[in-house]
Amino acid sequence: MLLLIVLILPVTSATSDYNYPKIFDHPWDHSPITVYIDNKSVPPHYNPSYYIQIEKALNYWEDGGNGKLNYTPAFKIVDSDNTDIIIRWVENLGKNESAPPKASGSTIPQIENGRFVHVDVVLGVGNYQGAKWIQYGDETMLFIAEHELGHALGLEHSNDKQDIMYPTYEHIGNISPFLLNQIADGHPTLKGRVCKGRPLLFRE
Ligand SMILES: [Zn+2]
Repeated sequence: MLLLIVLILPVTSATSDYNYPKIFDHPWDHSPITVYIDNKSVPPHYNPSYYIQIEKALNYWEDGGNGKLNYTPAFKIVDSDNTDIIIRWVENLGKNESAPPKASGSTIPQIENGRFVHVDVVLGVGNYQGAKWIQYGDETMLFIAEHELGHALGLEHSNDKQDIMYPTYEHIGNISPFLLNQIADGHPTLKGRVCKGRPLLFRE
């Protein structure tokens, strides 16, 4: 079992080339990939609009995603948990799922003979920013879902900050990935700092 939560890849090479590593080139041996989105057993701060963000994230990858897959995935949402991918939410990922305390999503594939046979995607619904717990907005949920589904399709973390597979997890409210990158790069209207390879964000 591979645990893909917060994997900070050290950049050991002297080159500044970006890497887009893969777990497998073709992790699924069939199509469509079936998906169960568990919007029944949900935590207190689940927002029904999160379901729509999952649909958007699935569409994102069907439409080509970040361009790093060697295949075009097709998904089928089904109403049974006997599926290839199960997506569910928990109130506090760090507490409930023994993930690192700031993790916002986790993807755990079961692998047999070089293929995925099942993938569990677990998403948080918010995060502590200092002492204050802040619920994820829809844009953040979409960003997290796109990232975790990238793992479920065979992608590892990238060291390209512009790529959806770059491991940045800490967001406030509805800051978009684009803005997130600007903050990490020292955008003048917002201040941020990089901690353990991941940006911690603060609004002015
Ligand atoms: Zn990741």
